[in-house]
Parts: sequence; structure tokens; C-alpha cells
Amino acid sequence: MSSAPTEETLVTLIPGDGIGPEVVDSTRRIIEASGAPIRWEERLAGAEVFKQGLPSGVPPETIDSIKRTRVVLKGPLETPVGFGEKSANVTLRKLFETYANIRPARELPGVETPYSGRGIDLVIVRENVEDLYAGIEHMQTPGVAQCLKLISRKGSEKIVRLAFEFARSEGRKSVACATKANIMKFTEGLFKTTFEEIALEYPDIESWHVIVDNCAHQLVKRPEQFDVIVTTNMNGDILSDLSSALVGGLGFAPSANLGSDVAIFEPVHGSAPKYAGKNTINPTAEIGTAVMMLRHLGHFEQASAIENALLATLEQGTATRDIKGDDGGAASTTEFTDAIIANLGSRASSWTERAYRPITMPQVTSDPVVVRPVTRRVVGADVFVEWGGDAMSLGELVTELVADTPFKLRIVDNRGTVVYPPTGTLTDCVDAWRCRLLARDGDMSDGDLLTLLGNFGRIPFTHIEKLHEFDGVPAFSKAQGED
Ligand code: NAP
Repeated sequence: MSSAPTEETLVTLIPGDGIGPEVVDSTRRIIEASGAPIRWEERLAGAEVFKQGLPSGVPPETIDSIKRTRVVLKGPLETPVGFGEKSANVTLRKLFETYANIRPARELPGVETPYSGRGIDLVIVRENVEDLYAGIEHMQTPGVAQCLKLISRKGSEKIVRLAFEFARSEGRKSVACATKANIMKFTEGLFKTTFEEIALEYPDIESWHVIVDNCAHQLVKRPEQFDVIVTTNMNGDILSDLSSALVGGLGFAPSANLGSDVAIFEPVHGSAPKYAGKNTINPTAEIGTAVMMLRHLGHFEQASAIENALLATLEQGTATRDIKGDDGGAASTTEFTDAIIANLGSRASSWTERAYRPITMPQVTSDPVVVRPVTRRVVGADVFVEWGGDAMSLGELVTELVADTPFKLRIVDNRGTVVYPPTGTLTDCVDAWRCRLLARDGDMSDGDLLTLLGNFGRIPFTHIEKLHEFDGVPAFSKAQGED
């Protein structure tokens, strides 16, 4: 057995909204009955805080507590609709840079699903702060919206290392990387190449790549082939909900948000307000979340005792209304909790326990620069413009505007498809266009670029992107139809 910490660990406890206080109370009672050396510091976040007028939903006392304890067990938090507030959950994840979202999905005894008996036992490791969820959005024109998909080498390396370390800590055999690198060669591609590079450092674990749409297909068709899946934020959001559904749904889905300094443990489900205060909901997801927390803190023995007591209870056929229905002899939340406490010390006969080891969190450099090319130059710029006319008139006008400058117009495209020079495509154009301009001598300075933008006076530009070459390799994608 590991050298479990015997000193009490202080944990920030956020009961949350709706059914939150019920699932958290159930979990707290079970943890206390298990004898795990946890001391709670109860703090507020969510609906009540929004009502007090704090738009982040997380008050300073809660932030101070988390900075001290560095571990949070929370219930779900409601995101008010129509007040313009941020999600308190997202605020917490971003404030403490919990870059990894870990969501296990394992077949549970007593929880019948169409997949029962197949032995599903997988974990989605989702990047939690980058990608489209950085939330950087702009209207390019009154009718065209844009969201920036940001993927960094540093962020990819952190999550990929964490996925392999997590696999090792649970004695898992393989890590699959799910991306859309076949289409998004720079963003999803960076994630994939980082994965392939880091995988070489973990020869004890099988590694493979799967295109994310096929991953979704395979998860429904043959989910038992997966062990750990590491993926970018949006892919992970979708795949992890899908995976939860394979083993019983939201009432059974635990999760952990891990960062270098802080770990936040929360169930996947929300505050289910219609069930609040009814003593009927299923606390399993919150209890499973607490089991993950205890393992993270090194309390393996108590984690195992709680997990086994929970599984033994389900195996005995004791379950809440979401499983039993209204007329099936469902246990109330408190009866279910009491049964788990009574089962502490029992083991589930149909469950093989893993040999858990403490996870080694990846060492992360604080240097923002992690890639240093030897050579770099700017060979041109994409100037994005708003234009209500047709492709031909825009192309001819831009050609005329740059005629006596160090630039030449290479192409004009509309949402990524070349429309000038004409190619015969049937593109149904909108009023946001890209004009790709290349420096005639192959090098563009910032001064050249400012002059170029000055020339665009007659066509309102919305934004620009420099066209870089790093170590002689173009660092930009081609438009559809561009040679
Ligand atoms: P939800 O609260 O997860 O509830 C959706 C449905 O899932 C419920 O109506 C219920 O299904 C089932 N369910 C969820 N938890 C359950 C449990 N413990 N036991 C049994 N059944 C459970 O999702 P929502 O209604 O979309 O969101 C409600 C609020 O929660 C929103 O304000 C949302 O922003 C917030 N939210 C918070 C978090 C978080 O804190 N991390 C996550 C998601 C959503 P049936 O109706 O079929 O019985």
C-alpha cells in the first residue's frame, strides 16, 4: 500500500446550486464515515453569489480558500440565463488554470445499459482551457461571425504528458489521440504531432491516433477497444458526454479538473433544478468524483473502500429513481447514502480494482516561449475585408490598389475557397473575404504592411494575418483551390 498521508487534508467544499447541496451532503457523510482524513472549508459560489451582484459568481473568500487548500470538491453551479454573467464553473477552471478535464466511463454493476457486459472502461482526457473555448469571438461583418481556435505547443504538451502519466498511474495500456488533423493541419495538427513526439517517451504505453469523427463512431460501435483518449477541448466536450451516456448517463459521471497547482473535482451533471430538495436524485456522480479526489490526495485505501461500498450497493439492486423509475422501489438519496455507509467494508463481486499509483503531474516551464525557430520571415499578409460586391470586382480593385507596391495579389477567397482569379466554383459568397498578398521580393516588413493597409482605404479591412515562414516552412494553410 502507498504511504497514505495521515495528516488531515484541508479541502474547499462548494455545495453549489439545485441538487448540489444534496449530492455534496451525501458524499460528505460517506467520506466522513470512511475515516478519510479530510477537513472541510465550506465556501460559496454560483447562484447566490450572482444574486449578490458579483458577475463572476465566485467571491474573494472562495478564491482565497482555494489558493490555500489547492483542492476543491464541488457540487454543480447554476449558470443564470439572461443576466450577462459568466459561468462560475468556467471562472473557477480559468482562474486556477485547471488545464485537464478527466472523465472516466466504466460499466457499473446494477446499471443496465445497451452496452452492459461489454466491459467498457475508458477515460477521456480533455484539454480544458484552449481551443475554441478560449472564447475569442468577433463579428467580422454584421452577418459573419468568427471564433479563434487557439492550440499551443505548450498546452498540447501539458495535456498529452498528463494523459500518459494518468495512464501510468492507473496501470492502463494505451492512449489514443483523437483529432481532426486531417482538416485543421495547423491547430489539430499541432496537437497530433505533439502527441506523436511525447508518446516516444512512454514506450510502455501503446499510442495511436484516431480521427475524431471515427472516434465517435467507434465509441458507439466498439467502445471496449478504448483505454485513455486524449483530445482537444471541443472534441473532448462532445466525446466525454457520449462516453458518459454509454455507462448510464449523467447521474453516474464523475470528473476532475487538474492543473499544476489546483485540482477541482466536480460531477459532470448540472444543478437539475426541478429535482432540488426532493431527496430523489442520484449522488453517484458526486461520490465517484470524491473517489477521484481521494486518490489524487493519496488516500487510496479510503477511496477504494468508498468505491467498493458504492458498487456493492448498486450490485445489491439499491438505486435511486433515475434507475428504478417511479414505481420500482427506488431508494431516496438519503436511503441510498445510508446503504453505502452500511456497505463500507464490503466489496463488489463483479469489480476488478486497478492498482492505482500516485500521478506524476507534468513539470511545466513558466517560459511562454517553448518553440524557437532558427530562421523566420514574413512573406506576405492575408487582409480580411468587408465587401458587399462580387468576387470579380473585389479582385480587380485590389489588383489595381497594389499595382505599384511591393505586393502582388495572389488570391481572393470566400470562407476558404478561391473565388479570384475565377475558378468556376459555385461558391455562394458572403460579405467577408480574404485577400492574400505576397511580397514580390519574398520579404515583408511591418512598415510595408502598414503602407499596404493604407492602400486599402477604399475597402474596409476587418483584420489581418501575417504569413510567416519558420525555418523555411510556410506557417499558413492554403485556400481551397490555391496552388
Ligand atoms: P443537468 O442539471 O445536468 O440536468 C439534466 C438532466 O439530467 C436532469 O433533468 C436529469 O434528467 C438528469 N440528471 C442530472 N443529474 C442527475 C442526478 N444526479 N441524478 C439523476 N438525474 C440527473 O443539466 P441542465 O438542466 O442542462 O442544467 C441545469 C443547470 O446546471 C444550468 O444552470 C447549467 O448551466 C448548470 N450546469 C452546471 C454544471 C456544473 O456545475 N459543472 C454542468 C452542467 C450544467 P431527467 O430530467 O431525465 O430526470
